[in-house]
Amino acid sequence: MSTIAQQDPDVAGIIESEMKRQAIGLELIPSENYVSEAVLEANGCIFTNKYSEGYPGKRYYGGQEYTDKVEQLAIDRAKELFGAEHANVQPYSGSPGNTAIYFALLEFGDTVMGLKLDHGGHITHGLPIAFSGKAYNFIPYEVDKETGQLNYDEIERQAMEHKPKMIVAGFTAYPQDIDWKRFAEICEKCGAISMADISHTAGLIAGGALENPVPYFDVVMTTTHKTLRGPRGAMIMCKQKLAKAIDRAVFPGLQGGPHEHIIAAKAVAFGEALKPEFKEYAQQVKKNAKALAARLIEHGFELVSGGTDTHLILVDLTNKEVPGKEAQVALDRVGITLNKNTVPFDQRSPFDPSGIRMGTPAVTTRGMKEEEMERIGDWINEVITNIKDEEMFPRVQKEIEEMCLKFPVPGIKV
Ligand SMILES: *Cc1c(COP(=O)(O)O)cnc(C)c1O
Repeated sequence: MSTIAQQDPDVAGIIESEMKRQAIGLELIPSENYVSEAVLEANGCIFTNKYSEGYPGKRYYGGQEYTDKVEQLAIDRAKELFGAEHANVQPYSGSPGNTAIYFALLEFGDTVMGLKLDHGGHITHGLPIAFSGKAYNFIPYEVDKETGQLNYDEIERQAMEHKPKMIVAGFTAYPQDIDWKRFAEICEKCGAISMADISHTAGLIAGGALENPVPYFDVVMTTTHKTLRGPRGAMIMCKQKLAKAIDRAVFPGLQGGPHEHIIAAKAVAFGEALKPEFKEYAQQVKKNAKALAARLIEHGFELVSGGTDTHLILVDLTNKEVPGKEAQVALDRVGITLNKNTVPFDQRSPFDPSGIRMGTPAVTTRGMKEEEMERIGDWINEVITNIKDEEMFPRVQKEIEEMCLKFPVPGIKV
């Protein structure tokens, strides 16, 4: 950071403050992670200078010797990691990735089924005010009211009734594993294209801790910056028969020049995910989530769907009589970062919902294990139960800072 510090102290100061925040706080937002120093280096490299519209071997500008090499490497590693027939590593992020899939495989107005937003779906899965909700006829499915889990028989019944052109599976706030095979069978039966959005769980899938939908699904999108622990971006994998349509929809359908520096960082991250250590990481993320969930249950918290099978925990705070927003703000004060979240069948509003959502990908990257998860569960309980006790806040903040300093964040020296 020395060059920025000299040239632009304003920006350098802000980055330094953010570094400190990341170092002394507990990052529990389930969609966040810490990339390695190697990924950071690639992310900040000179490929940012280059235009490379098109694909390896078929570009619209000169000077593509090395952009072709780096993009092809990212593609090959992505295919190996997930066993995919085809991979497009150019999507700028998850939302454009999903949009490209819809643009490639649907006509405007087509019927699509996706999980209801306040049941764990993503805004790109048909939020009425979003592009997906305006351009396509999204029919939402829900989780079961009793179990908080997907009811595949009910999804099948709805699919046969609406005959959608596509069904979107894979979610943003669903703590349980997904029966991909069953989903693919439902799609087959009603004649829908099967689309999996594994943005949240891609790292766990790549690490073998969760089942892989790629063999069963026509098309799969994932962000690269969540559990997969790469740079901010996305990729699309699909069957060979859809490759041309997908590539055309990404470029020139939706995007211009790809971000080759990010693609270089994707290649580095996929290389890391192919190593045996990454399998251990994926397993530990899951073990840590189970340990944290168990501790929260001991403290009387109610977990949506009964627990977790993934990296993610959704807590319904109704019985604790603390709304999600108040909990998020209070936990922020002690250095625990997570987000307020709706719970299925929420009685409150999305701006002030009943729940909080948390996950273990980032803390696991720092090397924290079950023992630390128990302490985190205790701190969350302490803050929620003593939310009116002003003296509690600085005390708990100090305890958390002390523990965090023992677990360095890659790329941050304190
Ligand atoms: C995060 C996420 C996305 C969107 O990714 P962005 O990079 O934020 O655009 C899409 N789908 C799901 C399920 C996600 O969790």
